[in-house]
Amino acid sequence: MTTDEWASWVEYHATLHRIADDQDLRMMQLWREVFESRNYTAEELRAASLHLSMTQPKTWRSEHLEFLLEHVAGRRRQEAVAARHAEQGEYSYCALCRGSGLIGGVPHLTDVKSGEWVHPFRRGAVVCRCSKGAGWRSGYEQNVERRRSKNLRPMPPQLTIDEYELRNAGWKMQLEDFEQKRKAEKRAREETREHDRKRGRIGLIGSVVERVVAKVESATVPEVPDECPF
Ligand SMILES: [Zn+2]
Repeated sequence: MTTDEWASWVEYHATLHRIADDQDLRMMQLWREVFESRNYTAEELRAASLHLSMTQPKTWRSEHLEFLLEHVAGRRRQEAVAARHAEQGEYSYCALCRGSGLIGGVPHLTDVKSGEWVHPFRRGAVVCRCSKGAGWRSGYEQNVERRRSKNLRPMPPQLTIDEYELRNAGWKMQLEDFEQKRKAEKRAREETREHDRKRGRIGLIGSVVERVVAKVESATVPEVPDECPF
């Protein structure tokens, strides 16, 4: 802060908060070093002074000093956060590939027969259409080129999601169907275990008891006459 900038801020703050006493103005000179040690600018202080005038009236000198210090620090923290967010915004999160550039777990084309994903349900990965995916793709192409120039074994082909969808448009539906099948399988397992738990082993005690009970129930009960014949 130049001397002029400082003087202009002191005047601004004093006017705004009706500080007219010489002793107060001299006291404020002590603050200059504090602010300058934190690289506070006259502009930041001006904003803090204005803000102070809009809050609950503060009439203690020490309150003014603390408010100014804290307000500028707070503004700087907010700006740092905003700058970080803006930076991250350039690489906005892609839900399709979860920010990795590769979409994993899609049905492998080998196991897609007439639009159906079939056993053994193998999976593969394709390159995403987001900026991360583009980066991944160009790295892949450089590798292909490098291997070709060195006569090395060629890289396996790597489809992008757009190329993949031309061959298998229904992949999302296939994944959903698979999920349903997986759930049905889980339910069948659970219910089977439940039968085991409740009814014991197949063909042993349970069924023997049932057969015995059935035999007793079907046996004819001798009729008891209404009156004693003797
Ligand atoms: Zn992506």
